[in-house]
Amino acid sequence: MQMITVLGATGSIGVNTLDVIARHPDKYAVFALTAHTQIDKLAEQCQQFNPQFAVVGNAMLADQLQAKLRASGCVTDVMHGVDALCQVSNDAAVDTVMAAIVGAAGLVPTLAAVHSGKKILLANKEALVMAGGLFMQAVADSGSVLLPIDSEHNAIFQCLPTDYGRSAGRNSGVEKLLLSASGGPFRGMSLEQMHSVTPDQACAHPNWSMGRKISVDSASLMNKGLELIEACWLFSVPEQSIEVVVHPQSIIHSLVQYSDGSVLAQLGNPDMRTPIAHALAWPQRIESGVANLDLFEIARLDFEKPDMQAFPCLAIARAAAQAGANAATILNAANEIAVQAFLDQRIGFTQIAAVVEQTLNSQTISEPESLEAVQESDNQARLSSSAFIKRLEK
Ligand code: NAD
Ligand code: MG
Repeated sequence: MQMITVLGATGSIGVNTLDVIARHPDKYAVFALTAHTQIDKLAEQCQQFNPQFAVVGNAMLADQLQAKLRASGCVTDVMHGVDALCQVSNDAAVDTVMAAIVGAAGLVPTLAAVHSGKKILLANKEALVMAGGLFMQAVADSGSVLLPIDSEHNAIFQCLPTDYGRSAGRNSGVEKLLLSASGGPFRGMSLEQMHSVTPDQACAHPNWSMGRKISVDSASLMNKGLELIEACWLFSVPEQSIEVVVHPQSIIHSLVQYSDGSVLAQLGNPDMRTPIAHALAWPQRIESGVANLDLFEIARLDFEKPDMQAFPCLAIARAAAQAGANAATILNAANEIAVQAFLDQRIGFTQIAAVVEQTLNSQTISEPESLEAVQESDNQARLSSSAFIKRLEK
């Protein structure tokens, strides 16, 4: 029996994770579920999965949830705050942690799981983007198993040789990683056409149903930029070895090109339960609830180059990957602030790139030697991007 903590249980990834877990009560049990504010949804999940602990964002919500659970006869104990998130991530009873909190808020609890050598199912790409060097060093030091949930990275992981990690990629024959991108809801539009798009339009992804932050990132292609940085860390490759391929059907989730001319791809319906089930059961396979791929119905697969003029975020992220040091920390923080400002209708969609670029230009690039240094860079970038946004609003 694998004991699992799901960080961010009420989100899109969290819900899909619990859907897969519920299909295999003989294999998986839930130790803890966490949510920031959605206590009604978390209460339902606790009643269904009976975790030992639930964690929420503050004391008032914890009291409300605890009362609700006791009234329904559920024995789950409710805690709150970051220390509690760390506690349910590194408890000795836990085997596996699904890291599915959105944004930088997921870093500290995910690192707690890494330090205690858990199997980590990583959906929270922002944690790796903002603190890649420290994160990967902690994985190496603790012997933690790190499995990617992001569909592209999960696909690449499946297409790499099984000893790729152990040999640090040496002599693997891997030449290039081809990172799939759907192109998002604004594929084919010009920068001018995107000036007036609304948050709801940005969140209406053609193939995937996801949380609002990643949906906006997918629309701006910043998501692909974050994924490029994520792939550099996960697979120890330089950014030049990764090419972004726009593939609007989202059936090929990514590919690996080898020196003998072979290209291996992973295909499947666009449903996050496939990578989740893959990582949960790895190296075995389990049923995920995802329908079989019908190639005759799909009939054709298309590919195109990303439009770098219309989607400047991709080039900004690539430059940050090349700069290294704390550039990705700054990029991620500025993007989180800018995306929230766009969702709050304080800035326009095309101003997200401007805020991120200006913030990167305003900050000192230096190698962060500690978690505190990463957090300091993150903080400074948030202050700076908030100031830029205030000026744009005037
Ligand atoms: P979501 O917005 O649907 O859910 C986010 C979860 O995080 C919720 O449970 C919420 O309660 C929790 N949360 C938010 N802020 C928090 C905070 N400050 N402290 C603690 N918990 C907090 O997001 P999602 O779409 O499920 O995405 C989660 C992560 O997975 C993101 O990093 C995203 O990039 C990544 N991801 C998602 C998908 C997808 O299909 N949704 C695909 C690939 C990667
Ligand atoms: Mg992805």
